[in-house]
Amino acid sequence: CGIVAYIGHRQAHEIIIKGLKRLEYRGYDSAGIALLNGSLSVYKKKGKVSDLEKFLQDKPLNSNIGMGHTRWATHGEPNDRNAHPHYSASGKLAIIHNGIIENYGALKQDLINKGHTFLSDTDTEVLIHFIEDIQEHNNVALEEAVRLALTKVVGAYAIVVMSLEDPSLLIAARKGSPLVLGIGKDEFFMASDATPIIEYTNEVVYLNDQEIAVIKNGELSVKNTANLPLTPYIQTIDLEL
Ligand code: GLU
Repeated sequence: CGIVAYIGHRQAHEIIIKGLKRLEYRGYDSAGIALLNGSLSVYKKKGKVSDLEKFLQDKPLNSNIGMGHTRWATHGEPNDRNAHPHYSASGKLAIIHNGIIENYGALKQDLINKGHTFLSDTDTEVLIHFIEDIQEHNNVALEEAVRLALTKVVGAYAIVVMSLEDPSLLIAARKGSPLVLGIGKDEFFMASDATPIIEYTNEVVYLNDQEIAVIKNGELSVKNTANLPLTPYIQTIDLEL
């Protein structure tokens, strides 16, 4: 039930694992991480963040972009396969998600009819297949495909999406589930609450419902799902660690 993502100049996995530990109080049954290091590497495990950490010990983790997740299963039993992140059909996109996609059944059937196969029983995997399907059929940028997908989604979500094809890009959106952005110097953080972020920066943006944040080439832009560009409200917070 937690999200941490990072893009910048530090080792993403260090920030993510530490951040997921700070979010452990929210409760969870599995944990996972995605990194970009020439390929899109996803590591995920049922159990504690410390189990994931052990699993990562002999893995190549060098990456300045990444995202991590702790899952509280709603659709699909808690196991390694259903843990997040999840992949799109091409394997080039990854998503983490907190919340529930209520109309995932109809979307999934539609995608199965189009030839998609699914590796998990989650509602979340359906969303990333749906996003890629929209991207391919409409020939639009990933951020636009995310927006179009979200206009069709019923439910609650905080999501982060990243792509093998653009290591300068991180996309986040929320409706009903919390998501905070941290703005550092040439680096950005995302998390379910500010506790994973405050160690690095006290400048944060609380994303509102139906908003999409796009970090691309070191620039943050925010719009809503109706495609209206918004000026992010940057707050300076003062939290005790
Ligand atoms: N509905 C998703 C799942 O069951 C996300 C659950 C969560 O919020 O962690 O995998």
